[in-house]
Amino acid sequence: MDAKTIEWIIFGPLIFGLILISWWAMGESHKRLDDPNDDRTVYLNRLRQILKLAPYGVFRVTIYRQSGNIHAEHQVTGSKEDALNTAIATFRRAGIDAVHVGANNETQLRIGRLYHDHRGRKEGKKIGKAHIALEQRMEAPASTPIPVPDLIPATLMEASEPSISIQNIGITCDCGQRSELAFAAIRNERVCEGCGKDATLTPVQIAQLEVAAEDAQREAMARYHAGETDIFVERKSKLAGDEPTTLTDQNIKFEAAKEAVEHLGLIKSGAIATIVGMMHGLAEHPRAIATAYRKDGAQLSRDEKKAAHIRANAFMSRQAYEDLTDKGKANPLNGHELTLLRAGFTENRYRRIRLHDETPDNIKDYFVGFEYQTHSSDCPFCKRVDGTIVQNAEVAILPSPDCVCETANYFVSAKMDWLKNIA
Ligand SMILES: [Zn+2]
Ligand SMILES: [Zn+2]
Repeated sequence: MDAKTIEWIIFGPLIFGLILISWWAMGESHKRLDDPNDDRTVYLNRLRQILKLAPYGVFRVTIYRQSGNIHAEHQVTGSKEDALNTAIATFRRAGIDAVHVGANNETQLRIGRLYHDHRGRKEGKKIGKAHIALEQRMEAPASTPIPVPDLIPATLMEASEPSISIQNIGITCDCGQRSELAFAAIRNERVCEGCGKDATLTPVQIAQLEVAAEDAQREAMARYHAGETDIFVERKSKLAGDEPTTLTDQNIKFEAAKEAVEHLGLIKSGAIATIVGMMHGLAEHPRAIATAYRKDGAQLSRDEKKAAHIRANAFMSRQAYEDLTDKGKANPLNGHELTLLRAGFTENRYRRIRLHDETPDNIKDYFVGFEYQTHSSDCPFCKRVDGTIVQNAEVAILPSPDCVCETANYFVSAKMDWLKNIA
């Protein structure tokens, strides 16, 4: 779509029914899950009932990622339920509620997630399957009853597992033509039926939709866990173009990441959603988050690392390397971290201002403005504004074009004058 085109997106709604998770299509598995006589696809909490492993022994539990790499390996001495709990605890933490069952006999159990998440950037990150193997059969201790903790609270029983679906995205072209687009088809080439112009979404716009979809899903899940059952979430926005956008709670992460990706030029625009995903983890240091991301999933080979000038003991997944632009590949270990840092400072400035918006009025009475705190005397902007006080609208939340600092690492904080109203 050309830069002048302004289109509105009506995103959603997401509707929760009462069947099961499904982010991407998985119709066949759905049907099987609801059939209690079909053991091939089961909810985790039903696994114990169909478990055929020897009752007691030494078990090896191996958890694999979707990439096929081993995520964790445990040796469990105890009951078959102990071994099972070890395997499915990881699945639960990964948000997987139901699995496909492969081999299921006295000596082994194989389970795997129902569908492969094809969104490349998360591939490998997620748990894919588990294998329990009996290494040594043992007699159960006769007098000790084997404790079998209840795996899940009653509120999460099968009947209330949520189902998520994304309805078609409604798009209105500048020419007035309305059209619908399936979420799964946002990468496809398309032409407006009204004006005949190319309306293929740009990588930035695709990332915008991905981020909005994940955000909507996050909101829906939070409401679900708070007890709501039929949930309808909508996201609506202009597609990202060249015009400046008003920052909101909903778009701040995307806009901050987009600015950082575009300004630094180290990460491809198609990976904006990856940066946004990292921003959700910003309680940890950006370096730790970026390193964990590079570490996850299939790695570049030793020779490929050598060719890319990456030291042999550094982590670099294929996906992380693929995210980098040619400029980013010049310093491949820093691209994600610098981009995340820059986006993180932007979000921090936004949050500081929002925090003040929510301050009670009696305290707001003492507010005089936002004070800049900067860290670079080499940067003309940072040097000029340090310690100065401005009003909300004047704060450069997105990095000021005059700031030459790589991560635009300046802060704003609400300045109070507690003597202000004393005559
Ligand atoms: Zn049109
Ligand atoms: Zn600066």
